[in-house]
Parts: sequence; C-alpha cells; structure tokens
Amino acid sequence: MGILDLTSMGEPQVDVKREIIGQLERLQDEIPEYCYQCAKCTSGCEAHRLLELEPHRIIALLKRGLIDEMVNSDIIWTCMSCFKCWERCPQKIAPVEILFLLKNYAVALGKQIPGNYTAALQSVLSKGLIQDVKTISTRTGETKSRRDVGLPEITKPVDPVKFQALISKMAVEKI
Ligand code: SF4
Ligand code: SF4
Repeated sequence: MGILDLTSMGEPQVDVKREIIGQLERLQDEIPEYCYQCAKCTSGCEAHRLLELEPHRIIALLKRGLIDEMVNSDIIWTCMSCFKCWERCPQKIAPVEILFLLKNYAVALGKQIPGNYTAALQSVLSKGLIQDVKTISTRTGETKSRRDVGLPEITKPVDPVKFQALISKMAVEKI
C-alpha cells in the first residue's frame, strides 16, 4: 500500500483504528494530569498565528473526550509538525503527537483529507520535497535564489522508484 492509498482510502482500517483509539484513550487518561493549560505551546505555534490552531485547546478537548469532534475538524490538518509545542511545554507534553494520532485516526476512518495535504505528499513522493524550490524577495525588492544566498542546490532522489517504496513503507510502519 502506498502513502497515497493511505490518505485516500475508502475502506476503514479496523485494526489500525482500534490501535490508535487505544493510544488516544491512554493519553486522555495521562496527559491532563500534567497539562495545566498555561498555553505556552499555543503562544509559539506557527499554525496558531496563521490558521488559529490552539494546541493547548487540543489537550483540553482530549481531556473532555471530544476525539470525534477533533477528527471531524479541518483544524487538525493545519499543524505544521514543527514540534515547537513540545519544545516550549514546561511539562514536556507534546500536543503534536496527539495531532499525529488524530490525523492517523482520520485516515484510518476513511475520511477525506484536505487536497493540499495530498498534494504535498505527492510532491514528496515524486521529488522528495514538500514544494518546489522557490526564490525569495528581499526587503529591498531583490529576488534571490538558494545559490544567491550561498545555499547548495537541492538534489532529487537518485532512484525515484526505490525512494517511493521506502516512503510508503515508512508511512505504513509509522501508522
Ligand atoms: S505548554 Fe504544556 S502544560 Fe502548557 S498548555 Fe501546552 S501542553 Fe499544557
Ligand atoms: S507541531 Fe503543530 S501544534 Fe505544535 S507548535 Fe508546531 S504547528 Fe503548532
């Protein structure tokens, strides 16, 4: 099974679903003991600034058992997996791990994931990159490439078929 199958499957995966819901329920019991809703995670969250994701609220909703509500919300797909919430948390709680579980659970339930997420996965599979390399504009209006700012050229996978097989294997094992 490829990663695209994982993100567009129509058939729910019963075993995977059971495993993930078990992990979420364990976290539901454990995490609220440690999280005191200080919102340091949210204050550093890039997705909060742009897309109103609030990792501390994700913890609060988990505590209240509102897993289905989160799985049915598009907000879980806005997490950029930067791990800042984990780095900033004084209690070493990782809201990002809960978001990973919620996204995996949504896939296991056969829910359709946002199109731009699938596009990013397709790009990773075909080029090894989330998006094409872009030029940037400076404050003085100049356009700069990676080479202009002293960065090396990006290399593509040498063997695309082997690369895709490896990524798909990792995706299945991770879930
Ligand atoms: S930073 Fe940690 S303790 Fe504070 S709200 Fe976020 S998860 Fe909870
Ligand atoms: S990993 Fe996700 S939830 Fe955590 S800070 Fe980054 S974008 Fe926000």
